Amino acid sequence: MSQENPSLVRFRFQRMLEMLERKEGRGTELITVYIPPGKQVSEVMNDLRNEWGTAGNIKSKTTRKNVQDALTKAMEQLKLYTRIPPTGLVIFAGTIASQQQGVGEMETYVLIPPEPIGIYYYRCEHRFMLDPLFELLRTEDSYGIVVLDSKAATFALLKGKRADIVKDISSGVAGKTRAGGQSARRYERLRQMHLNEFFTRVGNYMTDIFKDVPNLKGIIVGGPGPTKEDFLKGNYFHHEIKEKILTTVDTGYTGHEGVKEVVERSQDFLKNVRFYEERKIVQDFLYNVGQETGLATYGEREVIQALRSNNVRQLLISEGVRRTMVRLQCRDCGAKDTRIVDRDELVGFEESVADLSCLKCGNGNYEVVETEDLIEALVKLAESTDAKVEIISGETEEGEMLNRSFGGLAAILKYRQFG
Ligand SMILES: [Zn+2]
Repeated sequence: MSQENPSLVRFRFQRMLEMLERKEGRGTELITVYIPPGKQVSEVMNDLRNEWGTAGNIKSKTTRKNVQDALTKAMEQLKLYTRIPPTGLVIFAGTIASQQQGVGEMETYVLIPPEPIGIYYYRCEHRFMLDPLFELLRTEDSYGIVVLDSKAATFALLKGKRADIVKDISSGVAGKTRAGGQSARRYERLRQMHLNEFFTRVGNYMTDIFKDVPNLKGIIVGGPGPTKEDFLKGNYFHHEIKEKILTTVDTGYTGHEGVKEVVERSQDFLKNVRFYEERKIVQDFLYNVGQETGLATYGEREVIQALRSNNVRQLLISEGVRRTMVRLQCRDCGAKDTRIVDRDELVGFEESVADLSCLKCGNGNYEVVETEDLIEALVKLAESTDAKVEIISGETEEGEMLNRSFGGLAAILKYRQFG
């Protein structure tokens, strides 16, 4: 279950991008290849071979060699695929400049994006090109969209800024003006009846289409004029669907054009939906701290302790936490020790490990056995219990407070702690 926790998937993807973002080439020699789903592997292979040829014109001998080597590596990776995965493929390759003025080492990364990418391009730059992937991070939750008037309805699924049309239906309901000869009252009654049938169909489609979508955060109903409000006032849908309806959006059009309008006009609103959730979680924690219920704790040691004793109901981690857990072992007596260091200070810490003295025998002979991102370590601990994990952004006041005043780490507990 925790495997699918969207805030966690998002976090891991983000860390991966941050790791790639720090890579630099000495020259313009790091290559990035974005391949959209449906692209023929052989076609991409051809294009890369052409780039390899073009790279032969690069003046600097080292850069030329490095670019061509990177392209060769990319082609080797691509060869492993008979077809491009359903969300596309991104390949990074290049000689990463090392801190010591050495030759640097060739590194290759292959990434399958969590959402489909629609672009096809090749870049050779000083760094890897990550913007389209960072863009995917903005929002990953799904939303349903229905756009309707009395003539037609369109159903779509929104992920990030991308809306996929799922279905179009038309109502068969006649216009408001009747043809000559009919009684006005009878005409209106028939029209209402047809409209009622149409609304029932729309409601049923909403259930069919949206009920089983994973991580569906809500549904937005759009359309020109008051038809959508009439539709919402009547009880045309399943109660689970009703609970998901977030808001309505006025549009000038129906159909695909109308869906596009809804997407454009609801971006700010949607951002706030996630922020609202984050706020609620942090407020829950703050309430427990303020009321001294004994059901809240914070700080690295305290949170780890609570996780180890299987007493965490909800783990809160600030996105801004950039720390590393370093596991040490004494070469002389075998004693183990753990330290938590800022990511930026990790290199310095590793160099100074010899200055630490062993907690057990007192000798200065520690070695680093393992380093792990602190958040990953905590998430693993949480997964081994049934603690829920939420990664909290710094984009709300509460999220910022969690980071600033509580060290970015907090937990809501299952049981009161004593002592
Ligand atoms: Zn020792």
